[in-house]
Amino acid sequence: MKIALCIKQVPDTTDIKWTEHNTINREGVESIINPYDVYAIEAALKIKNSNQNTEITALTMGPAQAESMLRKTIALGVDKAVLISDKKFAGADTYATGKTLSRAVQSVLPDFSLVICGQFAIDGDTAQTGPSIANHLNIPQITFVQEIVECTTDYIIVKRQADDGIETIKAKLPALICVLQSSEEPSRATINGCKHAQKSEIPMLSMENLGLLPEETGIKGSPTYVSKAFRPIITRTNEKIFYSGSSAAALKDKITEFMAGANE
Ligand code: FAD
Repeated sequence: MKIALCIKQVPDTTDIKWTEHNTINREGVESIINPYDVYAIEAALKIKNSNQNTEITALTMGPAQAESMLRKTIALGVDKAVLISDKKFAGADTYATGKTLSRAVQSVLPDFSLVICGQFAIDGDTAQTGPSIANHLNIPQITFVQEIVECTTDYIIVKRQADDGIETIKAKLPALICVLQSSEEPSRATINGCKHAQKSEIPMLSMENLGLLPEETGIKGSPTYVSKAFRPIITRTNEKIFYSGSSAAALKDKITEFMAGANE
């Protein structure tokens, strides 16, 4: 089976700086692989360990320097990697990113069975890219995946985190999953893996290679734009209520006291 693994390079900082266009300024900032995508790699490797003839292809849409991140995935056991890079992709929102990545999946792996994404990227943090790729590929999607229970060439069974507990879901393949952090320790690269990664060829695909038009990608293909980006100023304060009897009664007293103050 063929797995498309979508991974993103993100700035290694919590001190995000913005450009004049309200996008993240990545210049001069160290980059790392998005932490959730480390678990996406683990999920793909786990499937590969239990299914012979599994081939994993990592894809990233990003600048040329994202190639080093792709090499690291090969060192970990990923079979192939493709960089999707073109100045015309700049300014893409999550819709245009999903469209470009889905086109890359169709172009590189027309016979794919599974697409694996992280649940969130820690910079943009929309969690929209995976669902957007699934939408463009017209395949089922399962988000908030905690664990892969079983994966065959026909179906996948996963445990997913829901608002009120854990759901077990089975989906026919091809499908897309977005994975959460897991408690398993991420794999480490082996020396042979690193040597193999250094020698591997990483093709780069441009807008023309994917058969996309300028109005379908980048800023022109993005139906949304960031009008303002700011850190919220939180002015509210917290108060701890110590009580000896019922917590509900203590809360009721507090609300009554608050309402009386508000009505004065
Ligand atoms: P999420 O949706 O939270 O990511 C979830 C998962 O999707 C990841 O774990 C990963 O598996 C996968 N994924 C996400 N992005 C990629 C990727 N690039 N390659 C492979 N897999 C991926 N960003 C810029 O750098 N420059 C811009 O000019 C710019 N303009 C933007 C304009 C708008 C209006 C918006 C909304 C966003 C813009 N962005 C820009 C951000 C860009 O759209 C997002 O970085 C991208 O779409 C991914 O969204 P996210 O970061 O929320 O990832």
